[in-house]
Amino acid sequence: VIRTRGLKKSFGSLNVLKNIDLDIVKGENLAVLGRSGSGKSVLIKIISGLLKPDEGKVEVLGQEIDKIGPEALQALRMKIGFSFQNSALYDSMSVKENLSFPLVRNKRHLGEKEVKYAIEEVLSEVGLSQTLNQMPSELSGGQRKRIGIARTLILKPEIMLYDEPTAGLDPITSIDINNLILKVQKKYNTSAIIITHDLTCAKKTANKVAMIVDGTFLTSGSFDEVFTSDDENVKAFYDYNFI
Ligand code: ATP
Ligand code: MG
Repeated sequence: VIRTRGLKKSFGSLNVLKNIDLDIVKGENLAVLGRSGSGKSVLIKIISGLLKPDEGKVEVLGQEIDKIGPEALQALRMKIGFSFQNSALYDSMSVKENLSFPLVRNKRHLGEKEVKYAIEEVLSEVGLSQTLNQMPSELSGGQRKRIGIARTLILKPEIMLYDEPTAGLDPITSIDINNLILKVQKKYNTSAIIITHDLTCAKKTANKVAMIVDGTFLTSGSFDEVFTSDDENVKAFYDYNFI
């Protein structure tokens, strides 16, 4: 469902992504690791059509996302759920309004009842039915993440892109988020890219991991394959998480 070949992206003289080849098949979750500034967020922004690559091929659900027209892009982007690093909720809107916004904007034919039902469904999916009328400022970081995920689920995505879903959360709340990612994968049959520094999250939620070093995937494979590598970049990540 996602394939990149020879993907390159620079900002001025900064070559962020130099050569990314990535394959994700239906139902698969890939964890992407890498240091701050290594281009992880840029990578998923390219895959979701928010940024254009300089070179290379980016195929998402069978279409070259950087080459299609605005209408096809809009249709394709509705199938991609993006859970942002900062949750990106609209602070002046209630939880209910945050959730109805993508539906009302993208599926104008839906009636009030259908919107209400869809909101209740995704809220219960993420276990936060009681927050319907609250404001984002009244929610904890973990709750905001879950509302952010609920907001993407409301459009029934085929692909989920999670940018550091457990960053800044305590271990117990992180486990909840990991379980939610797995639940979403099962229930909605999504494929996902999960950007994370949290190796527990990578191990629990993904069946493959890849690490970006110097603009390219240094290693990729199963968690155990990658973390038996002798490479110092890989070892540093492992040691930080587990020692
Ligand atoms: P972190 O773990 O801190 O979130 P990251 O791997 O997600 O890091 P990116 O956000 O992908 O890092 O950024 C990679 C590099 O590209 C950074 O040096 C950043 O400053 C640069 N960059 C990202 N977006 C832009 C942009 N729109 N314009 C200019 N430079 C950018
Ligand atoms: Mg980032």
